Amino acid sequence: MYYVRKRIEISYAHQLHLPYESKCNRPHGHNAIIEVYCKAEQLNENGMVVDFSEIKRIVKQLDHRNLNEIFNFPTTAENVAQWLCQQIPSCYKISFQESDGNLAIYEKERL
Ligand SMILES: [Zn+2]
Repeated sequence: MYYVRKRIEISYAHQLHLPYESKCNRPHGHNAIIEVYCKAEQLNENGMVVDFSEIKRIVKQLDHRNLNEIFNFPTTAENVAQWLCQQIPSCYKISFQESDGNLAIYEKERL
């Protein structure tokens, strides 16, 4: 099995709509560090699991954007991690660090 990991930083704005009092319900921003994990039993015709620049292209779609204008689901780190994992070829895990202390991980049960 071959593995690759790519680390990308993005800035984004969002707000949640929680049914309880939370500062997250107000518009705010994050500088998130996203780690994308991909794996493949066989390399593609270019000798890669997946092109790092393809991963970057997909993740950077969210850079300097208001995620609430892009997604129709609650823009939690967990949900965005899951969405990214579905978009990126051969991805099995996303680590989504939205701030120094807060990190969400989504991992597929099977690839
Ligand atoms: Zn937030």
